[in-house]
Amino acid sequence: MVNNSTKRRPLIIANWKLNGTSAFVSELLEGITEQWTGVHQAEVVVCPAFVHIGQASSVHLAHSNIALGAQDCSQFEEGAYTGDVSAEMLHDLGCQFVITGHSERRRFYNETDALVARKFDLAHKALMTPILCVGETPEQREAGETLAIIKRQVGAVLDYCGQEKLGRCVIAYEPLWAVGTGVTATPDQAQEVHAFIRQLLGPAGQATRIIYGGSVKPENAEALFTQPDIGGALVGGAALKADDFIEICKAAEL
Ligand code: PEP
Repeated sequence: MVNNSTKRRPLIIANWKLNGTSAFVSELLEGITEQWTGVHQAEVVVCPAFVHIGQASSVHLAHSNIALGAQDCSQFEEGAYTGDVSAEMLHDLGCQFVITGHSERRRFYNETDALVARKFDLAHKALMTPILCVGETPEQREAGETLAIIKRQVGAVLDYCGQEKLGRCVIAYEPLWAVGTGVTATPDQAQEVHAFIRQLLGPAGQATRIIYGGSVKPENAEALFTQPDIGGALVGGAALKADDFIEICKAAEL
């Protein structure tokens, strides 16, 4: 249960990363939509790989309340950028959300704060809701630098886009030591950083959905969601199993 003292609608986002064939995507979406009747209040988003977005949109999601998102977008609007997919193309395919600055993009593709801010802005201009991912490495946490890192990552987008725009989007706190590791932040650790992010956003941040990501599973979801500033989850591994994903969605119900 998400804490009732907040009026923010719970948000659960599935990040399927670089996984699955079209047959796997069909099976997974069928599994989710079959059990969908149990989910009433939470807003649910699935983010397939680019090549599966059209399939998910037209075949499975057209008649459900599940929204579609992308895992990334280009830093450019259009032109000679071979291999890129623009924010506008994603919106045209039915995406309403785009993940920006995921730690795997920052780590494996050297995405900087400035680049992430640019992608965030383009996603917003293309009428989608950007999801800004922020989080510290294990070494940074060990050195007591967590809040400084979060301030720098959120600050880059705040400076580029302003409080008002960032406040209307989604922020995902994803400590790198928890993403894909099986280790989850404790509810207190996660709450501390979520509250800090809300404070950075100023008055516009009261309505902002700040969600947690990092080895969320059916067994730990509810304890995280009862924290006052945690408004849902960005789910990787557990989102590849329909039963687990639905359990997490149900744990977020008001
Ligand atoms: C993620 O991909 O954003 C994520 C949180 O992955 P996992 O749930 O597997 O840790």
